[in-house]
Amino acid sequence: QWIYLNGQYVKKEDAKISVYDHGFLYGDGIFEGIRIYGGNIFRCREHLDRLYDSAKSIMLNMPLSMTQMEDALCETIRRNGLRDGYIRLIVSRGPGNLGLDPLRCPEAFVVIIVEQLAIYPEEAYRDGLRSVSVSPRRNLPDALNPKIKSLNYLNNILVKIQANLAGVGEAIMLNSQGYVAEGSSDNIFIVKRGVVYTPPCYIGALEGITRGAIIELCAKLGLPLREEPFTLHDVYTADEVFFTGTAAEVIAVREVDGRIIGEGRAGPLTSRLLDEFRKIVTVEGVK
Ligand code: PLP
Repeated sequence: QWIYLNGQYVKKEDAKISVYDHGFLYGDGIFEGIRIYGGNIFRCREHLDRLYDSAKSIMLNMPLSMTQMEDALCETIRRNGLRDGYIRLIVSRGPGNLGLDPLRCPEAFVVIIVEQLAIYPEEAYRDGLRSVSVSPRRNLPDALNPKIKSLNYLNNILVKIQANLAGVGEAIMLNSQGYVAEGSSDNIFIVKRGVVYTPPCYIGALEGITRGAIIELCAKLGLPLREEPFTLHDVYTADEVFFTGTAAEVIAVREVDGRIIGEGRAGPLTSRLLDEFRKIVTVEGVK
């Protein structure tokens, strides 16, 4: 396995970063998770737009242009000979000194890892996951803006720890006002009486690329969709609940906080959206 390490391709076991890298010292950096389906990088430009917007927002100077970054992604995939897999693209503030001042980090550091991926077994897509709501709150836009896909994932990790303790696949995070925000690394949707709902990102959710693709699919299929805030009560009483994310795609939820959702397995709209999503992923992409 070959890793792109700031302009060079090195073997996995040789891919090392400095202990002075501010990504390591402070979580100062940004990242993307991207899928490759049948040799296509799914929605590459959207991921790069989000990455470059995150960089601009935190005043991180990108060492590569978007085209150069796209070339680096393609070359890393080619060298690893993968047609289906997952790309992790990380841009840290780079090596500096022990102080947190980013001015001490003259150059950002880019890493690209390409791997095979299967986070949930295929049965999980039919049976649905169990889920719980957890106590860590999603930060609102005035703190660490959820639109920035930063390396500061401690909050999400605390959510994952609570999910693990509860023995469930993904958890539901609320915002500080108690509205449903998203999962630890997925966006959330519910279906009630034929209408699909997802929280607007301003209440505290990443603007997921998969979320965007599902919103587009709903429009294409003529399914009514509303972006509006909702609470756990709405989740418990929904006909269907599902998460979306680059790694998870569209995964049904069969139980939340002990309440059975719908028939207790993937509902018809969730299954249809998953099918339609899997149809578009191989045709939309780069190369
Ligand atoms: N929310 C968070 C916090 C995430 O980390 C992710 C994963 O990237 C998502 C949602 C889903 O976003 P996407 O569909 O772009 O992978």
